[in-house]
Amino acid sequence: MFRLRRAERIVLLPVVAFMVTSCTTNMGVRHSPLHPANNVAVDFRIKASDADCIKEARLYIYEYETYVSDKGMQSARKRDGGTWGLVKTWSYSMHPKDINESYCKKGGFPAHSYVTYVFSVTDKKGNVACESWSFAAGDWQFGTSPIPLLGNGAPASRIDVCFVADRDDYASARAMLGDLEKLIFDGYHINNGVKRGKKYWQFYYSPERGNITDFDASPRSMEIPGSVSSSSIIDHAAIIHTTVLRDWASGGNFGTEPTNIGTAVHESGHAAFNLKDEYNGGGHSTSTNPHHNNYNSLSSCQTYNTNNGWPASDCENIQSGWWRPEPASLKCIMWDDGDASMPSFQRTCLARIDWFYSNL
Ligand SMILES: [Zn+2]
Repeated sequence: MFRLRRAERIVLLPVVAFMVTSCTTNMGVRHSPLHPANNVAVDFRIKASDADCIKEARLYIYEYETYVSDKGMQSARKRDGGTWGLVKTWSYSMHPKDINESYCKKGGFPAHSYVTYVFSVTDKKGNVACESWSFAAGDWQFGTSPIPLLGNGAPASRIDVCFVADRDDYASARAMLGDLEKLIFDGYHINNGVKRGKKYWQFYYSPERGNITDFDASPRSMEIPGSVSSSSIIDHAAIIHTTVLRDWASGGNFGTEPTNIGTAVHESGHAAFNLKDEYNGGGHSTSTNPHHNNYNSLSSCQTYNTNNGWPASDCENIQSGWWRPEPASLKCIMWDDGDASMPSFQRTCLARIDWFYSNL
C-alpha cells in the first residue's frame, strides 16, 4: 500500500509549526495567485467561524529564497531583508462568530522565492487555531520539476498531487493556475474526506504541459511529463483540460476538467486511498487493508458491516461478483462522482480515509 520512495529531493521545508486545530474553530485560508510571478501582489485570505466567538486573527509571512544545496537538493533559506513574521492583526471588540478577511502583500516576492504563511485565530476562551501553508513565488529555479502550490510537510507523509495543463487547451502551464484555485480551494478543500485531513494534501503543477485524449479516442493516450512521472515526491498526476472529454484514469493518474471538482476528488480517492468504484461497470477489486468499499462475496461484505456496527442487510450487489458495504442510498462519491458538484465520502470510505491518514 505505501510506496517506498527514493530520498526526497525537495527540502523546501519551513521551520514554522504545522496546522494545529482547536476543536471549535472552522477555518479556510488561501492565497492568490497560486504561483505569483516576480513582484506581483499576493492576496492572503481567511474565512473562519467559531461558536465561542472570535477575539483576534493574525497573519504571519515567512519569506525564503530557494537555492541548490551542495548535495544538489532543492533547498530554501531565510531571505535577508525579506518579510519574516507577523504582518497583520485583526482585533474584534464585538467578538463575531464569523470572519472573512484579506491582506494584500503589495510588490509580492522576487524570483526564486518560497513563502510560508500562517493564519491564527484566537477565540474568546483563548483557544488558538492555526493553518500554515507554503508555496513557490517568482521564477522557479528548478527546471521542469513540479512547482509547489500548496504544501506544509515532508512529501513522504503527505498525498502529493501534481496538476498538468493539457496543451490542447492551455497556452502555457501558468495559464491553468486560475482554474486550479477553484479546483483546490472550492473543490478538494470542501470535500468531507479531504477536509478532515486537509493538511495531508499537497498540490503542485508541472512547468511542462501534457495531454490526454477522450476515453473513446483511438488510440487512447495519456501523456504525463517525465519530470512528473519520475518524480520521487508526486503520488499522482491530474491532466487538466477544458475541452469536454470522457475522462479516464490509468496508473493512478487521470484527466479532468477543472470545473468537475467531484470527478477530481473521486479519481484522487482511487489514487490516494485505493478505494474502488461502488457503481456497476466501474473498476472493482478487494484490498487487504482495512475498510475497503468492495467485497467479492456477500458474506465477506456482511461480516465487514457487522464487525463495524452497520446492518449486514445494507450490503448491496454492485454487479456480478461484487458487493458494496455502504448502500447506494448514501450516495458516496465513489458511487457517483457528481461531476461539477461535490458529493461526500460515506461511512466505509471515511473509515478507510481515517485509517490512511493515521498511517501517514
Ligand atoms: Zn472511479
